[in-house]
Amino acid sequence: MSTIFTQIVEGEIPARVVYEDETTLAFLDANPLAPGHTLVIPKDEYERLNDVPDDVSSDLYDTIHRLVPAVEESVDADATTVAFNNGEEAGQEVPHVHCHIVPRFEGDGGGPIHAVAGEPPELSDDELDDIAADIDSQV
Ligand code: 5GP
Repeated sequence: MSTIFTQIVEGEIPARVVYEDETTLAFLDANPLAPGHTLVIPKDEYERLNDVPDDVSSDLYDTIHRLVPAVEESVDADATTVAFNNGEEAGQEVPHVHCHIVPRFEGDGGGPIHAVAGEPPELSDDELDDIAADIDSQV
């Protein structure tokens, strides 16, 4: 069963497409958080960022990089929040990697990306060192 975004790629359901190339597609979010709220996806279906192969990953970044100024310009935004909900527990509803480009405006009442997680943990220097070493060893 393909995702709703694959159905958009295949033209089975309509979308307001704003950019397309061989491997990526960008279109307006159907339930925009702000005018110009845009989604950027790899055309092939990958659930999480870590499932995306290196070459597609760089294509995806290139498209995001290209779209951010275009979106800001088109709706006269002061800034953008650019983010992925990467996994169900992080709020990902559509299991097909997608980057949200959400235009932001002075006084729009929204928050920074720091607002997305729960209570911040209290971590000692040793714990932070261990976490940093652990991540470094997995890269
Ligand atoms: P998620 O919570 O998975 O990060 O975000 C999924 C996004 O996809 C939501 O912002 C939702 O509004 C958008 N969306 C869901 N279904 C459709 C659709 O059929 N067309 C478009 N254009 N956007 C959709």
